[in-house]
Amino acid sequence: MSSTAITDSPAPWLRDNCPCDACRDPRNGQKLFQITDLPAGLAVASVREVSGEATTGWEVVWEPDGHRSLYPADWLDAHAPGGPRGTGGDGRTEADKELWAAADLSGRLPEASWDAYIGDRSVRIHALESVRRLGFALLRGVPCRDRMVLDVAETFGFVRRTNYGELFEVRVEPDPNNLAFTGALITPHTDNPYRDPVPTVQLLHCLRNEAKGGDSGLVDGFHAAALLRREDPRAFDVLTRVPVEFSFADARTELRAQRPLIDVDPLGRIREIRFNNRSIGTLHESAPVLEEFYAAYRRFGELLLRPELRLDFRLTPGDCLIFDNTRLLHARTAFAESGGRHLQGAYADLDGLGSALAVLRREGAAA
Ligand SMILES: [Zn+2]
Repeated sequence: MSSTAITDSPAPWLRDNCPCDACRDPRNGQKLFQITDLPAGLAVASVREVSGEATTGWEVVWEPDGHRSLYPADWLDAHAPGGPRGTGGDGRTEADKELWAAADLSGRLPEASWDAYIGDRSVRIHALESVRRLGFALLRGVPCRDRMVLDVAETFGFVRRTNYGELFEVRVEPDPNNLAFTGALITPHTDNPYRDPVPTVQLLHCLRNEAKGGDSGLVDGFHAAALLRREDPRAFDVLTRVPVEFSFADARTELRAQRPLIDVDPLGRIREIRFNNRSIGTLHESAPVLEEFYAAYRRFGELLLRPELRLDFRLTPGDCLIFDNTRLLHARTAFAESGGRHLQGAYADLDGLGSALAVLRREGAAA
């Protein structure tokens, strides 16, 4: 490495990353200054290679304030502008996912036994990594106890309590406030698009499934959106731009949120899908925009129903499905309301799951 990594770096960026104890609290790594505290006319006055026992790197003396910064060579290798991390994603976009159709997962469902998941760090890492990469993991043999779904959520994050409670009962209710709590067929959808922020992880724990019907299905919404972009780029574009209102109301609750069906990141990469025919509201747009939106919405809806995209399986007692609610759509077939089918569901979030995964890996590396 030569000093060009220093001289080619924009001065404010380099100085903002000074690792010295005056710039960052050594106890927690948090930054001690604001962007507005940096002197005007900031420039590198001199650069010198240092090769000590502890660190090899480059020492910079700054003008006009004479501040000294020492940049380790491995830090510059990893972060210098134009390097390998350029336009790196946050792990949430299609760039960091393995998109799938049903056949891609035949014989390789991301599943683990509960005992192995609890007892073996590498199994837990693999399961959580599957939620990030494929959008889901299936735990088998989870004890069929009331509220056990909350314990599962707490193995990787924090339960997101909502108006449905800490958990929700998916079974036939006498006066349902949601079609999920009937025996009706439920087409592929994401949950709760009427919340802001939307719950990013969903868990479904099967306690009983003796009903005829009531099988489960998953669809990779990122894969479907990528197909739409290839087959009808104009429709894709419309669905990323038109805000859609979703709403939910019952006696105690009135929720609404407005987002596009397909959310993309600042680089245009697919990042979130919202799709729920039960809670989509009335759009207020000009007639030409409504024409375009409805053609695109229908096209996307048809794509999501393609049988080859849908992974079908049956949850049996003790199965707990953990999935990314910003990417996967879930569905179920109709079932006889007299049959015994009871799932408990809960929401959690991807940031907690990502943190749990990073800490498990850190502990694994230290062990
Ligand atoms: Zn400093």
